[in-house]
Amino acid sequence: MHDNIIYSIVVPLYNEELVINESYKRLKEVMNTTHENYEIIFINDGSIDKTRQLTEELCLNDKNLKLINFSRNFGHQCAITAGMENASGEAIIVIDADLQDPPEVMLEMIKKWKQGYDVVYGKRAKREGESFFKKFTARSFYRLLKNVTSIDIPVDTGDFRLIDRKVCNTLNSLPERNRYVRGLVSWVGYKQTFVEFVRHERFAGDSKYPLKKMLKLAFDGITSFSYKPLIISSYLGGISLTIGFISIIVNIINNVLSKTNILNIGFAISIDFIMFGFLLSCMGIIGQYLGRIFDESKARPNYIIENIVTSRKDDD
Ligand code: UDP
Ligand code: MG
Repeated sequence: MHDNIIYSIVVPLYNEELVINESYKRLKEVMNTTHENYEIIFINDGSIDKTRQLTEELCLNDKNLKLINFSRNFGHQCAITAGMENASGEAIIVIDADLQDPPEVMLEMIKKWKQGYDVVYGKRAKREGESFFKKFTARSFYRLLKNVTSIDIPVDTGDFRLIDRKVCNTLNSLPERNRYVRGLVSWVGYKQTFVEFVRHERFAGDSKYPLKKMLKLAFDGITSFSYKPLIISSYLGGISLTIGFISIIVNIINNVLSKTNILNIGFAISIDFIMFGFLLSCMGIIGQYLGRIFDESKARPNYIIENIVTSRKDDD
């Protein structure tokens, strides 16, 4: 690796055999135009296709590359955390491998960084080639998160962003698990700005973010930055109690005033379902927090590195 690395490009990879070569080519083309030293750090997040093999081949022939192989799949947020913890640059840029985040936008980010900004995040002006479901859920989630949290996490931004070395050091010093990195970047403060870009269609392959992973990320985002769901669950308890009391009073009055009982068994069962529904959702919300506290208390690392591959030329 070079001394005095200015830029570290952090690229998480999970089963990206169809995009890795093109991604490498485009990143390199763009970074070469800066005429400054850079490194590209690929994090292979436990891929089970040829991603590891292909990336190792690239690394062995390019001294600007570094590959971190995880011992298994730890998830996108852990992969970018590892990249940030292993970066040596003065500015660190996190970018997806699938070319949905156009590498050319990195140059605009660099321009803003040189103007003195510490964080330059990519704001998605438009999303191309993604399903209605993905766009709708992402849009709703970013707005929900904005409403429930007290810190200002910008809407429609992913993890595509540039951070200054001092921001990276601050983030690396935060020991928390179940990380929602883009939220942490907002939380740490510093001088932040954004560049707008059109998010393209994936270059090849399918999304590596199935609904289950999206939900996990959403819960990490909300629980890391807000107690509001817990507060809402206590309100739900109050509403539920009120419904219960009203239905009892109505039942008594009805029994006293007339002989026809409108509170039949069906009605009673519906009330039971509503009550149990409220109760279980509230327990679920508490469980989301409790599970994360459990993770913190175990204090296991966020990821395990199996090995790091760099250019053979380094050993000469
Ligand atoms: N990714 C990862 N680990 C995972 C899932 C995804 O490192 O468990 C990487 C993936 O290879 C890609 C980036 O995270 O570089 C974003 O994933 P993807 O493009 O599949 O997400 P989407 O854009 O569909 O939300
Ligand atoms: Mg993608």
